[in-house]
Amino acid sequence: MQTRYQLRKITVNSKLQELQITWADGHHSRYPMEGLRNACPCVLCQGGHDQMGKAVDPKIFLQSSGRKRAITDIVQIGHYAIQITWDDGHQNGIYRFERLRDMCPVEHGLI
Ligand SMILES: [Zn+2]
Repeated sequence: MQTRYQLRKITVNSKLQELQITWADGHHSRYPMEGLRNACPCVLCQGGHDQMGKAVDPKIFLQSSGRKRAITDIVQIGHYAIQITWDDGHQNGIYRFERLRDMCPVEHGLI
């Protein structure tokens, strides 16, 4: 697997409302939590099975209602994904590393 999809470090910064990831290639990603919650890849949030697997538009991170989000738990799944539990109790989303890295708003110059 490419180093751009290998996780080195993951940090939740509640104050900044960001999930921060350092990848094995040295890139630092910052994901505003509201956008990350809205980008939840589970079948419910994606609106049905036919919507699954579509790439996320990184502009999702530009939308903000000002609503605060909190992450209560993160579990790594194998070497390919993390499962995030949100403070609203939602925990169905398996965020694959490829998907996370490819929608990184820093890499897309959005934040
Ligand atoms: Zn979901």
